[in-house]
Amino acid sequence: MSAELEELYQSIILDHNRRPQNFRVMEDASGHADGLNPLCGDQVTVWIKLDGDRVADVSFQGQGCAISKASASLMTQAVKGKTLAETQAIFDRFHAMVTGQGAEGITGGMKALSGVSKFPLRVKCASLGWHAMKAALDNAAP
Ligand code: ZN
Repeated sequence: MSAELEELYQSIILDHNRRPQNFRVMEDASGHADGLNPLCGDQVTVWIKLDGDRVADVSFQGQGCAISKASASLMTQAVKGKTLAETQAIFDRFHAMVTGQGAEGITGGMKALSGVSKFPLRVKCASLGWHAMKAALDNAAP
């Protein structure tokens, strides 16, 4: 990765950390789930609202390192408005990227997290919000 690209990715992560998207409690959620990464001290709660088989709204709150917060913020942007099948596909692509299986099909700011795959401890930080999102979907009442 070029130094320029690394700098760009770094700034995307710092920007999402400073100004996370969809960072709020959702009162009328269909489901929610908590995530904890004790290795780093990251905590996250993800709320999800379903409209049929579509993710009508998704939000999160929590505290932790810049990677965990930025990744959760990027997750909300990536899955908002998507169908459950699309959400699963996005989750799978993200998971493949951070576990070093390639960044095929990854678009937008999520690419900023591709470097995480080189740091196993950071993979847990980056994945936290995504796994909480999956858990929130699993326990969502339609
Ligand atoms: Zn962390």
